[in-house]
This record gives sequence, structure tokens and C-alpha cells, in this order.
Amino acid sequence: MVNKTLEDIPGVGPAIAEKLREAGYDDLMAIAVASPADVAEKCEIGDKKAADIIEGAKVCADIGNFETGEDILERRKSVTKLTTGSKAVDELLGGGLESQAITEFFGEFGSSKTQICFQLAVNATLPEEMGGFDSEVVIIDTENTFRPERIVQMSNYLGIDPAEVLKKIHVARAFNSQHQILLVDKAMELSKTKKIKLLIVDSLTSHFRAEYIGRGALAERQQMLNRHMHDLLSFATLNNAAIAVTNQVSSKPDAFFGDPTRPIGGHIVGHTATFRIYLRKGKAGKRVARLIDSPNMPEGEAVFTITEDGIKD
Ligand code: ADP
Ligand code: MG
Repeated sequence: MVNKTLEDIPGVGPAIAEKLREAGYDDLMAIAVASPADVAEKCEIGDKKAADIIEGAKVCADIGNFETGEDILERRKSVTKLTTGSKAVDELLGGGLESQAITEFFGEFGSSKTQICFQLAVNATLPEEMGGFDSEVVIIDTENTFRPERIVQMSNYLGIDPAEVLKKIHVARAFNSQHQILLVDKAMELSKTKKIKLLIVDSLTSHFRAEYIGRGALAERQQMLNRHMHDLLSFATLNNAAIAVTNQVSSKPDAFFGDPTRPIGGHIVGHTATFRIYLRKGKAGKRVARLIDSPNMPEGEAVFTITEDGIKD
């Protein structure tokens, strides 16, 4: 796979290879995990042609085949874990936030979703010995809640230079859901020149919730969210990165689902996120994190607090 290039894909000559590269698809894996509609649109080619190219890339990149358990175990050896700042929450997750996976934090307004994102961003810049990724971070901010002041406070507590940390955190404000989706492509571009092992989307669902209103829009909303989640998963796979997304649930009964604690995005987000954590307020300013479903960890709860210094046990 390492020696193969785009021109090795059947049906891809120099002209199409150039279009693909210009659209940002500059290796086989990037094409293999792309959606046919995206490739068709960005390279201005037909859907059928795009689908054929993707299939060809899968063969060249040797994906889409069955893998043995041994192969998968080997790949999972490169999974790294990012500390949340709370030992209890880390233990709940089996050591921290996993790379090559999406972790969803959902809960009511004020349940600390954004604070956790800040802490993860700071922690990702830490060296690996300190539970970090020694990397830079991308934050897609949809609610305009990024606060550099909090990054400074958390960095000071950890004894690291806040100015250095702020330089490593790349924040983009997403103005609507389409823009939010595009920003994942931008993040992918940035990841070619910078080591980005944490991508945060806070909040994953607010724009989608606001824009796709009513039962008639539900199918389209779910389709767009599904695409967005798969883009995020591609980012995670290609960069061995952790993805953290937030999802607000409202205390009011949901018009469609009834259950107030049910996160929007329903089964789409639920099936794509590898880890789901439900956050709620506990007594005396405490917060409770509950692991909802995980492929390899038992369900359970952890209690933590939010202080000026950050997330703590
Ligand atoms: P959401 O789940 O809506 O994103 P946030 O992550 O914004 O919620 O959490 C807000 C909570 O964080 C508030 O209850 C507030 O008490 C707490 N908080 C914010 N900043 C600080 C701080 N500097 N020190 C202590 N607690 C803070
Ligand atoms: Mg928030």
C-alpha cells in the first residue's frame, strides 16, 4: 500500500489524479474512506465514476476486506489514550479518551460538556508521560462558547505555559451545519502540516437541531449528521486522533422522541460514537458522568468537580 499512488487506481489517469489531489484526496486511504457524493462533487465527475474510484482505492489500499482478530489487535496497539483530568472518569473510559474513536458527551445545559472540552484541549498538548498526546488541537465551536481565559487558568494549574498551549489550539467558529461539515475538511488539511490528535466539536448537534425543524426535515437531518459523523471517524482513523463531540439534551420533552434525556441525533449519533457519556449535575456542585455504551467497558458512573483549575476528582 505504501508504494501505491493515486495513478494505480484503475481508471485514474493524470488528469483525474490531479483533480483528486486538488480536492485534498492525496492518498489512497483518504479516497477509500470518502463518500461517492463528496468525491463526485469536489472533482466534478459523475457519481458512478466516483464510486468506481473509491472501490479501486479500497482495493489498492487493501481495505474493505476481512481482517483477522490478530490484525485488529495489532492496529489497536497504536490506540492512545488522553486523560480527562479526572482519574475516576479516565477509569470509566478504560484509561481516558481513545484515539481512533468518537466520544460523545451529552447532557443538559450547564452539565459541564464545554468545560470538559477545554480540559481535553489543554491535556492533549501535554507530553505523553502526563497523559497527553503531545499534539495540537482543533476545536469546532458552534455556540461561541470557546473561552481562552479558561485555557489559561487550566494551563497555569498544570504548570505549563498558557501562551504555548493557546498557540496549539486551533478554533473555528461554525456558523451553520454546512459550514460545520466543511470545517472537518479544513481540519484534515491542517492535519497534513500539524500533528492534530484531538478534534472537538462543541456542539455537534445545535446547528442541526436549529436548522432542520419538524418531522419532514428529520430524515434529511439524520442523513447530514450521519455524513458528518463519518467524516469525523475518517479523521480519527487517518490521524490516529481522538474525537470529542457534545450533544445537548433538553429538560423539556422532545417533540419527536418524548424522552427528555434522549440526545438528538438519536440512533445515528449513537451508533457512530464509540463511547457515550451522559453528564448530569450532582449534589454540591458535583457532576456525574455515566458511561452509556462502550464496546469494551462495563457501564458505570464517576463523580467529578469543575473548579477554576479545571476538571478534578
Ligand atoms: P455545558 O454542558 O452547557 O457546555 P459548561 O461546560 O459550560 O456546560 O459548564 C458550565 C458550568 O461550569 C457552570 O455550572 C459553571 O459553574 C462551571 N464553571 C465555568 N467556569 C468555571 C470556573 N472558572 N470555575 C469553576 N466552575 C466553572
Ligand atoms: Mg456548552
